[in-house]
Amino acid sequence: MKDNKKGYYKLLSGCTALIILLYLLLLKGECYICSANTEGKSPKIAVVIDDFGNNSEGTDDMLNLGIPITAAVMPFLPTSSQDAEKAHKKGHGVILHLPMEPEKGKASWLGPRGITVNLPDEEIENRVEDAVKELKYVHGINNHTGSKAMKDERVVKAVLRVAKRNNLLFLDSKTTDKSKASQVCSELGITYLERDLFLDHQNNTVHIEKQLDKAGETAIKKGYAIVIGHVGPAGGKTTVRALKNKINSLKDKGIEFVTLKEIEER
Ligand SMILES: [Zn+2]
Repeated sequence: MKDNKKGYYKLLSGCTALIILLYLLLLKGECYICSANTEGKSPKIAVVIDDFGNNSEGTDDMLNLGIPITAAVMPFLPTSSQDAEKAHKKGHGVILHLPMEPEKGKASWLGPRGITVNLPDEEIENRVEDAVKELKYVHGINNHTGSKAMKDERVVKAVLRVAKRNNLLFLDSKTTDKSKASQVCSELGITYLERDLFLDHQNNTVHIEKQLDKAGETAIKKGYAIVIGHVGPAGGKTTVRALKNKINSLKDKGIEFVTLKEIEER
């Protein structure tokens, strides 16, 4: 009887030890999961807003959204340097929104000193260099339109030589699937990024909110998403409204809003 009792206690303490051991292992496992979550990077969305520089509708609202954005400013326009300065002072990213010749439409739609395929290399470089100087705070370039010019390797090379000299990244707005930017960026050793989604190709809140949901899914899947919206008639106040409606729910999903530069450095 005594021996039986001893055996019973032995078994009991053995089981207890096993349970404690299992518990500790589980706890450890949980801790590993915890640390992976705290150390792992949160998914990021960079909101790039095109067409600043002309005091367009939504300019101030966009700069006061309460999240960091990247202002893509067109050069040589009435409020180009003022918009770049305002965005920079508010802690936003600033890039040059370079007008480049489209397949369709008039060259005059590009605004002053746009990049057209008939220009010699030197003139292209001068225009881009002057634009970079005018906007002072730029850390990158993206293309405004450009479905024709972005296919032209010579033109793209001339633009990107200036990016290289000024240590700027290039964001391809992807207005053509035949763009030479990726190839030329890797040849010249320039950071190349691509737009994932346009927010406001349809100028209504429901569509823009859907695009923001898609951006959230992309960010969770690949770590980040780059979206492009607009001030002015292409988006403006509608885009501001949709962003305001969506910012908190995206943040609730663990998504962080960042400038394009932070995507480059991630
Ligand atoms: Zn544009």
